[in-house]
Amino acid sequence: MRIIVLGPPGAGKGTQAAKLSTYYTIPHISTGELFRANIAAKTDLGILAQSYIDKGDLVPSQITVDMLTARLSETDAASGFILDGFPRAVDQAVALQELLASIDEVNYDVHNPSQGIDAALSFVIPDEVVVARMKQRGREDDKDDVICNRLKVYVEQTAPLLEFYGKSVRNIDAVGTEDEVFDRTIAALECKD
Ligand code: AMP
Repeated sequence: MRIIVLGPPGAGKGTQAAKLSTYYTIPHISTGELFRANIAAKTDLGILAQSYIDKGDLVPSQITVDMLTARLSETDAASGFILDGFPRAVDQAVALQELLASIDEVNYDVHNPSQGIDAALSFVIPDEVVVARMKQRGREDDKDDVICNRLKVYVEQTAPLLEFYGKSVRNIDAVGTEDEVFDRTIAALECKD
């Protein structure tokens, strides 16, 4: 099972992705977490990524795609994965499909971007709810001006993915308790159309 999780920052993607990881016994791969681990370990990648993350900007795609390529080559990802925070722009979605084509040793059709993945989930939530959630979370990049920039980046660069993945997107109402949203998520994944 290969699932990608879309939605604005603060929509609860990470929480739901972690629950899905347990439910389907596949790894939860969060590019944001991979960056934060590199920052904590003071690696070259972490030092490079930090300046972008601190401002709420996207880390350049080449750096992010290289990091993800390395992570997907680990053996636990062979049985599937939940991608949280990637892709975050259309060029990353194209790179993901190319990467999956090379892993699967097939040619996927770029005009059919969901080839290679089983589901694209979109967590739908009003802006005011995400701002309130992010303020509660208190992460380094959850300061007011950075939150605003991350929402802007989402609208400009990430939201176009919803159109890119088109009919394969399954919308999930992300307002509610963790368990309520998880029940909706499983229902959305298990219904065929
Ligand atoms: P997240 O934990 O998913 O909210 O990500 C935190 C920050 O990491 C983002 O605001 C970006 O600066 C960076 N980041 C995470 N994933 C990506 C990605 N796919 N492309 C570029 N930057 C990313």
